Amino acid sequence: MVHLIAYFGGSFDPVHQGHLATAKFLVDYFQLDKLVFLPAYLSPLKSQSLAAHHRVAMLKLAINGEHSFAIDEQEILQPSKSYTINTLKNLRQVYGSTQPLAFVMGMDSFLSLPKWHLWQELTHYSHIIVVNRPSYSPVFSSELQQWLNKHRCNQRQMLEYQAAGLVYFVDSPLYAISSTNIRKALQQGQAINQQLIPAVANYIFHHHLYGATATNES
Ligand code: ATP
Repeated sequence: MVHLIAYFGGSFDPVHQGHLATAKFLVDYFQLDKLVFLPAYLSPLKSQSLAAHHRVAMLKLAINGEHSFAIDEQEILQPSKSYTINTLKNLRQVYGSTQPLAFVMGMDSFLSLPKWHLWQELTHYSHIIVVNRPSYSPVFSSELQQWLNKHRCNQRQMLEYQAAGLVYFVDSPLYAISSTNIRKALQQGQAINQQLIPAVANYIFHHHLYGATATNES
């Protein structure tokens, strides 16, 4: 049996416990061979992100010692908007036609899918795994629902039996954490408590990122 390999795309600005806890849950739930964080240089739906080298450095600290985790820098090394469809095409070429691949996204991202470049073709190259995100319910636009009717799958084993083509909603734990809220809290001098792993929090304070000051550290 060939195990599934999952790619978790995002800005990771910064990577937080919501990303990491979700990634660990997915490794166990799907018995993943590997979960690969795929930081975008710039998400086409976002106006800007922190410098690429800082986001990669924080991701490296976050996955240190986690053997199932890896980072793919192909998007973040290309200083232009990162289109998932192009990345998935590249990955399919690298892995060949039979390796099961999945692209992971939160429900918030899934609801925005019709704004993504060539979104209906994403499943030509990989499966899509959708994880829960607090405050985002599975209420789909008619175009998303129509497309979903052709791709939705309720049996997780199917994601290993075929290489691509399916959308699977996983009932993952809810983590009320977002990079936007962390950036705001840092800017306002508020504590960020358990939302970041200590190594990432230390990196942010050391480099004074997001307007962080000593008052955030308490
Ligand atoms: P921002 O607040 O800047 O939009 P974010 O917290 O949503 O950032 P991203 O790096 O944009 O983080 O997210 C990457 C992927 O991780 C997206 O598919 C997003 O839905 C998912 N994700 C982010 N936070 C969580 C969370 N707390 N639980 C589950 N999925 C999450």
